[in-house]
Amino acid sequence: MKKTAIILLLAAATAAVFFYRADIFTKKGAIIKRTRFMMDTLCTIQVPNEAGVSKTEAAISRAFDRMAELDIKFNCTNPGSPLYKFNNARVPITDPEIVELVKRALEISRETGGAFDITVQPLVDLWGFFTTSASSQTVPSPQSIKLALSRTGWRRISVKNGAVIAADKDVRIDLGGIAKGYSIGEAVKVLKAAGVRSALILAGGQVQVFGSAAPGVPWKVGVRNPRKEGYIAGLAFDSETGISTSGDYERFFEVNGVRYHHILDPKTGYPARGLMSLSVITQDPVWADALSTALFVMGPQRALEFVKRQSGSEVIIVNAEGEIVTSQADKVR
Ligand code: ADP
Ligand code: MG
Repeated sequence: MKKTAIILLLAAATAAVFFYRADIFTKKGAIIKRTRFMMDTLCTIQVPNEAGVSKTEAAISRAFDRMAELDIKFNCTNPGSPLYKFNNARVPITDPEIVELVKRALEISRETGGAFDITVQPLVDLWGFFTTSASSQTVPSPQSIKLALSRTGWRRISVKNGAVIAADKDVRIDLGGIAKGYSIGEAVKVLKAAGVRSALILAGGQVQVFGSAAPGVPWKVGVRNPRKEGYIAGLAFDSETGISTSGDYERFFEVNGVRYHHILDPKTGYPARGLMSLSVITQDPVWADALSTALFVMGPQRALEFVKRQSGSEVIIVNAEGEIVTSQADKVR
């Protein structure tokens, strides 16, 4: 993979809510941009208008429909999902697409020393980041965390004869740290099959691009400042690649000045410490999604070491002190 130049824009452009706005960078060429709310977040697809508005819109629509289909399938809170049936009634998962993604998630657990763990569901549930009631915004008791921890552990699920099975009755699966990346990858496939030659797909904190925004004009993406409006970095992508950001600012609450957020350390049962945000730049959107979560859990030092041992991945970290550290410090301008 070609190295992506990381350009730090320290006194960066101000943009409201979102970390990303291609339009502030892309000057040339009409781009068709459509947005849908899916996977609990805003999803946007942008395609340069090469094939005409109706054809381009039809392709975008098809990609969104595929993402919507996956949103239902991979949502463990949806009673129709095989994940729900597995979590609540121990029904083995045989849906090939889910089985494959679970397999991949288990490989990533192994590679990341358990930092990435799709069995964190009892902890996610306990911390209540996905419920809106005020009562859920409290720090769980150490005993309840201990109990939830005793119900987690990726080694307690396995894939046998094409089915995901549980080793015991308490284990539950949450694909929240990987499903979005898979869904983005599927959207890319649908767009390409429809003849689209370049696009940018955004879902929450993750972006994937292929082709260019206009002839000779790369897609450009900004990395959001985790504490205020604006960006900490701008990236120009000149090859098929993506960026996934995990941050402590997406879902969180504060108690006595301490921030509790939705990325949980499967070893402690508490939100991971040491970082405000971490962005992984790499080609495979599934890997980008899972790795940003895993590296966030590992903390700044181990995350940098991990990425330096890899080829084809870069990382941009905002540590707990608000300092920006990247895996290619020599390239920072
Ligand atoms: P987001 O979904 O907000 O973009 P991430 O990709 O970092 O954020 O994924 C966080 C989600 O993944 C959590 O909401 C939770 O469902 C799940 N999760 C939390 N901690 C872990 C972990 N250590 N390993 C795997 N999944 C996790
Ligand atoms: Mg992730």
